[in-house]
Amino acid sequence: MHGLLFSGQRALNELFPGFEQEPLRAGLDVRVERPGYDPFPHRDLGWSGYAASRPAIEHAVRRRVESRANTTLRQRCRVTEVLATPNGGAVTRVRCENGHGVSETITADLVVDASGRGALTIALL
Ligand SMILES: Cc1cc2nc3c(=O)[nH]c(=O)nc-3n(C[C@H](O)[C@H](O)[C@H](O)COP(=O)(O)OP(=O)(O)OC[C@H]3O[C@@H](n4cnc5c(N)ncnc54)[C@H](O)[C@@H]3O)c2cc1C
Repeated sequence: MHGLLFSGQRALNELFPGFEQEPLRAGLDVRVERPGYDPFPHRDLGWSGYAASRPAIEHAVRRRVESRANTTLRQRCRVTEVLATPNGGAVTRVRCENGHGVSETITADLVVDASGRGALTIALL
């Protein structure tokens, strides 16, 4: 189970209204037990959450992103380099390799590195 915390829920609901449909009430709908301890008391902890795997959450987000007319997803496309202007003042392009191993360069007004650990940005810096 992936714990989707409150600010994550709020952000997803702002981006994709209706994302929060059937939350679980923490403390009431979930029973927590750990070996060597009594079961945690059954009481309303005052917040709602979701019981979904991370792939299920990512699938729900992906479906909503795909339905946006101004958004294109490039599958199996790996960014190999973030490219800046010659003086290093601004990022203007990314180089990537598509699913067929062909390299291409995409120009952009804004590049967001969401690759997780930031290796691409660190390499650029
Ligand atoms: C075992 C484990 C359990 C966790 N449990 C929880 C939990 O219950 N609740 C919680 O809130 N957080 C949890 N986390 C933390 C959470 O998973 C991360 O904080 C979160 O996934 C980070 O999201 P992200 O989008 O920044 O990066 P990621 O989820 O890592 O996404 C980065 C994406 O970029 C892609 N990518 C990387 N390099 C390139 C490239 N060069 N070109 C193109 N694409 C690229 C990757 O394939 C990936 O899809 C857990 C983490 C782990 C490891």
